[in-house]
Amino acid sequence: MRAGAAARRRPLVGANWKMHHRRADAEAWCRAALAPGSPLAGASPAVEVVVFPSFPLLPTLEAGLAGSAVAWGGQDLHPEDAGAHTGDVAAPQLADVGCSWALCGHSERRHDHGEDDELVAAKIAAALRHRLRPLVCVGETADERRAGRTLAVLDRQLDAALAALAAPPGGGAAGDNAAGGGPGWALAYEPVWAIGSGETATPETAQEAHAHLRRRLAERAGAPAAAAVRILYGGSVKPGNAAELIAEADVDGFLVGGASLDAAVFRAIIERCA
Ligand code: PEP
Repeated sequence: MRAGAAARRRPLVGANWKMHHRRADAEAWCRAALAPGSPLAGASPAVEVVVFPSFPLLPTLEAGLAGSAVAWGGQDLHPEDAGAHTGDVAAPQLADVGCSWALCGHSERRHDHGEDDELVAAKIAAALRHRLRPLVCVGETADERRAGRTLAVLDRQLDAALAALAAPPGGGAAGDNAAGGGPGWALAYEPVWAIGSGETATPETAQEAHAHLRRRLAERAGAPAAAAVRILYGGSVKPGNAAELIAEADVDGFLVGGASLDAAVFRAIIERCA
């Protein structure tokens, strides 16, 4: 359980809309999310929130969330800044529609598009070049967990990401592009078997993985950096399980897929974190 409020990192919650919603849905979502009394409204809400819609909806969020404290970001990006890459989207294009975050290494990208650790690291580097904050996803499959390889998989994915985060091309450090709350990037532990399955990790299982990631971060990047990085949990988070998960010492927020599509349900999750 969480040691004490004093040491608490500001919670960060991401909404991953995946390949859902059209423009009218996104407009209605923004109105409901920012309605008076909502935990997402106000100049400096207790919980930092970022929404990851599919690419065509980014301008809709740019308009719908303008002037609010809610950020938006891309679900993916190409490692190059421009070029002949049909169907891909580059970091400068994300920045041009006001993105401040980019998801890197989501398991659906790793699985559907064969993204490996090296490509994920190149995407992290591209994000940092354009002052986009990477939200780096790591997590084991069900087979890897059954084989007792969970921590080894997390180490491999984290180490590859850290190589890019420690030395972003173009100068500076990953801590430099912070836009409020923690360094300029965050980590999401998303066990693949829990994503969209309705099977959530228990708080103990999540905490074990998060604590391991933070220890590894401390070894690789130093204790102060490890203490500052927000580590989100993702995998079938709902209003009913959010409170017990966020109570764990190293769970600093959530990456929410299915339950983020309905603004009222998402608001309820934010309330559990505030
Ligand atoms: C996700 O898309 O990152 C995710 C965690 O999805 P869900 O909440 O639907 O499991």
